[in-house]
Amino acid sequence: MRLILLGAPGAGKGTQAEILCKEFSIPTISTGNILRVAIKNGTPTGLKAKSFMDAGKLVPDDVIIGVITDRLAESDCANGYILDGVPRTIAQAEALEKAGINFDDVVSIEISDQEIKERMAGRRVCEHCGASYHVVAVPPKNEGVCDKCGGKLSRRHDDDPEVVQQRLEVYHKETEPLKDFYKSRGVLKSVENQPTVTATSQAILHALGR
Ligand code: AMP
Repeated sequence: MRLILLGAPGAGKGTQAEILCKEFSIPTISTGNILRVAIKNGTPTGLKAKSFMDAGKLVPDDVIIGVITDRLAESDCANGYILDGVPRTIAQAEALEKAGINFDDVVSIEISDQEIKERMAGRRVCEHCGASYHVVAVPPKNEGVCDKCGGKLSRRHDDDPEVVQQRLEVYHKETEPLKDFYKSRGVLKSVENQPTVTATSQAILHALGR
């Protein structure tokens, strides 16, 4: 299964991807997580990406296309994958198509901007493995510690309210047009965000016919 999760920043793509990748035994690929690791390690890609990410802007398409095509060529992607946060522009989607990478399903998680803003304030992310938590909705077993790897949980700089506003604007302008792009390919499924993480997972599985 080759699946894309679309949706605004904070829509719950990362959380749902973690659940779905266990269900289907395929990896989740998050360009945001790959870039955060690159920044932490001070790699050339990280150096290119940092200022854009700090400002809530998109990292240039050429950087992303390189990162994602390299990652999809790794052996663990042979049986499928879930993409979280990529593609984010029409140019990225076209580049994937041009590289012969096509998708079985594209799920768009629908949620209002207001709900996103309220939600982002409570998000916490593992500095080590990138797993995502929420202080109220998805708390870790021990405060500040990742359940999966024991890494330290912290707030992302780009979850600050002004940066969230900027990221929402970028989402509506650059990423939302992907819904029409994939609708025209006959693979788009829209799923309304539900009151709980589990209910949203069930809605996604239902949309996927599982
Ligand atoms: P995310 O973790 O998916 O919310 O991504 C965090 C930030 O990383 C974004 O605000 C962008 O600056 C950058 N980023 C991640 N994925 C992409 C992408 N596919 N295209 C451009 N920028 C990206």
